[in-house]
Amino acid sequence: MNKRTFIRLFAATLASPPVMRLLAWAGQEKLRNWAGNLEYSTARVHTSSSLDQVQDYVKTENKLKVLGTRHCFNNIADSKDAFLSLKPMDQVIAIDKAKRTVTVGAGITYGQLCPYLDRNGFALHNLASLPHISVAGACTTATHGSGQKNGNLATAASALEIVRADGNVVNLSRERDRETFNGAVVGLGALGVLTKVTLDIQPSFMMRQYVYENLPLGELKDHFDAIESSGYSVSLFTDWQKQRVNEVWIKSRVEAGQAFHATPDFFGAKLATRNLHPIAELSAENCTEQMGVPGPWFERLPHFRMGFTPSAGKELQSEYFVPRPHAVEAILAVERLRDHVSPSLLISEIRTIAADSLWMSPCYEQDCVTIHFTWKPDWPAVSKLLLMIEKELAPFDARPHWGKLFTISPAELKRIYKRLPDFVEVSKRYDPQGKFRNEYLNKNIFST
Ligand SMILES: Cc1cc2nc3c(=O)[nH]c(=O)nc-3n(C[C@H](O)[C@H](O)[C@H](O)COP(=O)(O)OP(=O)(O)OC[C@H]3O[C@@H](n4cnc5c(N)ncnc54)[C@H](O)[C@@H]3O)c2cc1C
Repeated sequence: MNKRTFIRLFAATLASPPVMRLLAWAGQEKLRNWAGNLEYSTARVHTSSSLDQVQDYVKTENKLKVLGTRHCFNNIADSKDAFLSLKPMDQVIAIDKAKRTVTVGAGITYGQLCPYLDRNGFALHNLASLPHISVAGACTTATHGSGQKNGNLATAASALEIVRADGNVVNLSRERDRETFNGAVVGLGALGVLTKVTLDIQPSFMMRQYVYENLPLGELKDHFDAIESSGYSVSLFTDWQKQRVNEVWIKSRVEAGQAFHATPDFFGAKLATRNLHPIAELSAENCTEQMGVPGPWFERLPHFRMGFTPSAGKELQSEYFVPRPHAVEAILAVERLRDHVSPSLLISEIRTIAADSLWMSPCYEQDCVTIHFTWKPDWPAVSKLLLMIEKELAPFDARPHWGKLFTISPAELKRIYKRLPDFVEVSKRYDPQGKFRNEYLNKNIFST
C-alpha cells in the first residue's frame, strides 16, 4: 500500500475521539501497548493506590513490571508474570514555590501535571511531542523534546522515591546522592518501583509556534546550527524525498530576547499559512496551535494536544541519538537511504537535546541530535530497514531510544554506554534476584 492510500485509510480513524480508542482497548482480551504492535505476555495487572500497597505487592511477588501509559514500542515494559499499575497515584503531592520544585505521584501524566503547574504560575523546562505519557515512564526511558539547550525530561528530576525488590523504600536526591541518583533516574524499570518524583520547575512562560514548509536540504547542510538555534525548541520533519525537509517547527518563548521573528522566508523555506500536522496529508486538528498564536508553554511545547490521538496512531517508531558534532553527516547518511526508507515511512523527525549526566541517558555527557522514524506498522520491513540505518549510523556511535524499536546488539550497547557496568551494579544492589528484570533487560543490559 502506498503512503497516500495508507494515510487516507487511517485519517478516518483519527477523527474518532480518544475515548473510542480506550474503549477499543478495553474490549480486547489481551493487554497491548498504545500502538498495538505489542501484545504483553500477561494481562495480570494489579493496581496500587498507596505506598504501603506498593510495598506489600512488591514483597509478595517474585517477578513484576510497572506499567506506565504503555507508550513504548518495544518490550521494555513487558512481563510474563504480573504488572503493577500506579494509575491512582497520580496526585501532585507538594509544590515548593521557593525551591521551585514539584513532587508528584509516579502515576501522573504530563497532561494532568502541566495545567496544574500553569495555574500555580509554574512550568517544566520541556515536554515530549505528546502530553499523554506518565512522568515516571518518561524519565525511566530518557524521553525528550527538542531544543539544543534543553536536556531530556529526566533531567528535571531532582529526587526519587523507589520501592526496592525487598519492599523497602529508598529516597534519592540529586544533591545528596549524586552518583547513585544519576544512575537511577533513567532506570529502565530495573531498580524498582518509582513511587514519587520531584521535578524542577520554573516560572510559567508563553510561547509561539511557527511552521515553515520545504526547507532545501542544502540549506540544512550549510546552516544546521543557525536553524537549530532559531527557537527554544526546533523540530524538522522530513520524508527524505525531494532533497528537502517538509516542515520546520519553531517554538519560541515570547519573552524579550527569545522571541522568534517570523519572516515569510526561512533559509529558503516558506512560512505556512495554515496549521499543519507533521504528516501534511493529515488534519492538524490534533496538533497544538501554530501560526504564531501565543499560548501557554504546555500547549505549544508538545506537537499533539491532550484529548486527541497523538501522532498517526497505527504506527511503529524508532529513534537514534547521534553526538551533535556529527549531526549533518548522520542526516546525510540517512538521506542516502531514502529510496529504501520511504516505502515504509510515515515521517521522520530531527531534534536536538542538551548533554546531561544521567548514566543511561543517550545524551550522557554529549549534546545530541536525534533522528526519529514513524513507520507504517510492518515490522518485517521495518526490522530490515533498522539494520541498514544502524549500519549507516554506527560510525557515529548512534544510541537507540530505549522505548522505541531497535536492533543494536547488547555488546554494542555496552560499548556505547560507558556507565552501563555501573548501572548493572546499582541495579543488582536494588534488585539482587532480578524481580524487575524481563526479557528486554536480560538481553540488552544484563547479558553482557
Ligand atoms: C505517539 C507517541 C509519541 C512519542 N513521542 C515521544 C517524544 O516526543 N520523545 C520521546 O523521547 N519519546 C516519545 N515517545 C516514546 C514514549 O514517550 C516513551 O517511550 C515513554 O517511556 C512512555 O512512557 P509510558 O508512561 O507510556 O511508559 P511505559 O511504556 O508504560 O513504560 C516504560 C518503562 O518505564 C517503566 N515504568 C513506568 N512507570 C514506572 C514506575 N512508576 N516505576 C518504575 N518503572 C516504571 C516500565 O516498567 C517500562 O520499563 C512517544 C511515544 C508515542 C506512542
